[in-house]
Amino acid sequence: MAECWVCFRHCRLKEGQVGFCGGRICRDGRVEALNYGRITSLALDPIEKKPLARFYPGSRILSAGSFGCNLRCPFCQNYQISWSEQAEEYARTAETVSPEELADLARETQQKGNIGIAFTYNEPLIGYEFVRDTARLTKARGLKNVMVTNGTAELAVLDELKPYVDAMNIDLKGFTDSYYRNVLGGDRSQVMAFIREAVRTCHVELTTLIIPGENDSEEEMRELSGWVSGLRNPDGEGVPLHISRFFPRFHMQDRGPTEVRTVCRLAEVAREVLEYVYTGNC
Ligand code: SF4
Repeated sequence: MAECWVCFRHCRLKEGQVGFCGGRICRDGRVEALNYGRITSLALDPIEKKPLARFYPGSRILSAGSFGCNLRCPFCQNYQISWSEQAEEYARTAETVSPEELADLARETQQKGNIGIAFTYNEPLIGYEFVRDTARLTKARGLKNVMVTNGTAELAVLDELKPYVDAMNIDLKGFTDSYYRNVLGGDRSQVMAFIREAVRTCHVELTTLIIPGENDSEEEMRELSGWVSGLRNPDGEGVPLHISRFFPRFHMQDRGPTEVRTVCRLAEVAREVLEYVYTGNC
């Protein structure tokens, strides 16, 4: 039996048992990444798609994902690799790529406008060892590292990644404990602590997906943006907030897409206190 310390769940795993996230396993009495180097998705994306609006705009970034996630968002856009039967299948079939191979590929695609590697698509923190080992090599090749994350991990995980990660987009999915706990299976306080520490070390942008009837009130956006306004990126600039429109997907098909006017109204509310607010999927 061993305990995983990576996120608030602190799964206690028997030998050979896989954790809640599907990405970690107990082997030889210790918990390690089952998804180390197991790549399920690879694409050269515009940096704005991460989304990052104020980090090398106009560039492209080699984006890599594995499998597994420690949240259970019912509307997941990447459920095939995050949490579903298909994600479990990937644990058996995904190809293994070494940190060196991925870092070399990033350098080879520099001539296509690539600035580095984005660890994205599934939750990278549950496989932080591969992110750390690859990002170290990417940095040594003069390239950048980006992480797109739900921010659900202990600060000790962030400590491992700090020296190598240049920018992050972190989800701040809402601003009530009940939404995080009951709808997403998450822990808002862990995410807020992660964000508070992340802005001290690298460029951070945040994303809030607006779900009708869940986190779409002006009051909640006022509270959320008020908290974000107290944060500063290392260059002294305010932290950008991306407010995104929801579309029915996966296990959340019981409501229509977020009204565009709702997203625009919430962006106006956020702009009362934030310098950089962007709308997405509109
Ligand atoms: S990272 Fe995965 S195995 Fe570790 S505590 Fe979180 S859910 Fe459990």
